[in-house]
Amino acid sequence: METSDPSPIESEYDVIVDGSGPAGFAAAIASARAGAKTLLFSSAESIGGFSANTFVHSLSGLYVTSQDMIPRAANGGLALEFAERLVSSGTGTAPKRVGPYDVVFQSPIQYTRHCWDLCQREKNLTVALKTRLSSVNATESRIESVELASREEPVRARAFLDTTREAELAFLAGADFEGTESCTNRRRAFIFSIRGHEANATDEDGRQIFSEHLVKALSLGLLTPQIGLAVIRLVQMDENPDACVGLDAEGDHFSALNPDSLTRFQILSGNLANELGSFLRSNIRGFEKCEVTVVPTQSCERESRRITARYRLTEADFQSSPDFDDAVCRAGWPVFADPSLLRSIVFDPTRMRPTAVPLRALISKEIGNLLMAGRCISSAYVAQGALRVIGTSLAIGQAAGLAAVETARSEEQSIPENQEAEVAARIRVVLETGL
Ligand SMILES: Cc1cc2nc3c(=O)[nH]c(=O)nc-3n(C[C@H](O)[C@H](O)[C@H](O)COP(=O)(O)OP(=O)(O)OC[C@H]3O[C@@H](n4cnc5c(N)ncnc54)[C@H](O)[C@@H]3O)c2cc1C
Repeated sequence: METSDPSPIESEYDVIVDGSGPAGFAAAIASARAGAKTLLFSSAESIGGFSANTFVHSLSGLYVTSQDMIPRAANGGLALEFAERLVSSGTGTAPKRVGPYDVVFQSPIQYTRHCWDLCQREKNLTVALKTRLSSVNATESRIESVELASREEPVRARAFLDTTREAELAFLAGADFEGTESCTNRRRAFIFSIRGHEANATDEDGRQIFSEHLVKALSLGLLTPQIGLAVIRLVQMDENPDACVGLDAEGDHFSALNPDSLTRFQILSGNLANELGSFLRSNIRGFEKCEVTVVPTQSCERESRRITARYRLTEADFQSSPDFDDAVCRAGWPVFADPSLLRSIVFDPTRMRPTAVPLRALISKEIGNLLMAGRCISSAYVAQGALRVIGTSLAIGQAAGLAAVETARSEEQSIPENQEAEVAARIRVVLETGL
């Protein structure tokens, strides 16, 4: 959804948020609701990030893992408010059981509309989409202002939040970050949808039949080999069965940071989607009338950059779920899908105790008024794989937005280390984390 009448950007804010994915959206709303004058800007054309423009269609991490079939929210606050809004409007399904997990399936186009509606209600919030960051004016310990391509004057703020997935604010401010450029780790996926097939064509039996046909056709050389990496999933919205198909890029064939290579992947994926659609129509019962309906504007990738913070979450934290004095929210999704190993690691599914996210993982180690949320929080590769899901990104976004407001209101423009636990306790109350 585009801003038809973009609010003029002013020269000074309390909090500036870069990036409009679930983390940035939640951070900006949290900051505005806490009374801070907030600017949310993004180079993107819409709000919602991967969930809006790459057709990621399931919201994971909203509920904790459980064996008793009762969805229990990992966090209250905005994550739950947003999920309930999607469900009550028919944009999302009620939580559906997938193994020991409860997941809300959603319609990406409607999803972005809801994000936009919620932002519009906040009087302290200015949203500027299609707005590029050109530089950052920073000292070694503080960001003073940002320069935006659409404005001559710099825009000042007391606290800055990076939610851009590739840590662009931190990078331009000279802050440390980690993250490989390895295509195997980043492993891109292209998710599209088909419609018009019979309802049982994509149920468990249907998927089995689909796989058998696919294997046969691939072994006979009748299909392009990359189609062998397709995963088919049924997403039931209203009365219309939409099936989502994910195609994974093969490891090193595409450079994750090279625009030419990404364009080639995008074109190839579009062609594969059409090839698969036509194969389904001609070869598999129940798919005779199916067509490819929604093709995303971009593909999505698994790994991305993480900013170095006061604390770095690791695989060990997911194994042992330590109690942090400064815990702000819970990461309820215990699965790390390792693209390089082509398998998933599930962190002790019997333990059922979600991992706490400490406030320190959201504050840059060197720059006191730089905070982060979503995929770019401080974490090791494996931990990022479990943290990055949308439900968790929403909760972390809200926590980081509130922490940014505290930062902006503090005299030092930074949360002192001896006050982290105190600030975190205030954030937990708003998020109703149950920690
Ligand atoms: C293949 C795949 C499948 C997934 N499946 C699921 C799933 O089933 N369920 C689930 O809950 N999650 C899933 N995810 C994870 C989820 O979609 C994202 O990790 C989540 O959207 C993270 O939110 P975010 O706000 O941190 O980042 P994003 O949603 O990535 O948003 C980042 C924002 O920053 C902007 N931005 C990005 N890069 C730059 C840059 N370099 N410069 C400037 N701006 C930039 C973007 O335009 C966007 O506005 C999946 C991810 C992948 C890759």
